[in-house]
Amino acid sequence: MLVQLQKPPKLKKMRIAVFPGSFDPITIGHYDIVKRALPLFDKIIVAIGQNSNKKYLFSLEKRLELLTELFQDEPKVERNAYSGLTADYCRTENAKYLLRGLRSSADFEYEKTIAQLNKDLHPDLETVFFVSAPQYTHISSTIVREIIINNGDATQFLPEKLRNLIA
Ligand code: ADP
Repeated sequence: MLVQLQKPPKLKKMRIAVFPGSFDPITIGHYDIVKRALPLFDKIIVAIGQNSNKKYLFSLEKRLELLTELFQDEPKVERNAYSGLTADYCRTENAKYLLRGLRSSADFEYEKTIAQLNKDLHPDLETVFFVSAPQYTHISSTIVREIIINNGDATQFLPEKLRNLIA
């Protein structure tokens, strides 16, 4: 009798990307990057990097809550928080891609250095850059925080779903 040995099905490697940032708070510009990156990856982890030397406007709990709310209908997006090196965090998540956004040449110069350093620390990690959509180039969490602190209305810079959740 001929016994045919069947090869086990190849497990498709998950393409996992980490989108690291402070997200203090997440803006319409960040959201656009995640949405545009979704077709490229099986999973995107929006990861809040915690730096003990940095002062934040929104607590970590609040920032996580905003991410949960924003991506609740998107099964490919997870959110998390981490401390320490981003390259190490990517290893723990088995992520081979790092997502970043570019708004300007200043962003490029800064991001280039970080991407090259991350490559030294974690040679399998590729940084993938998305050029900001022109209508979002001027938007940053810093600007949003400044408006909120000064009692202005920052809603136009926030993803629609979050407009009632951020003062
Ligand atoms: P960080 O604290 O590391 O600067 P941010 O939360 O400010 O993190 O930003 C995370 C990433 O999102 C960075 O790569 C930044 O360049 C990108 N980003 C921020 N705002 C925008 C925007 N309006 N359009 C495109 N990318 C953006």
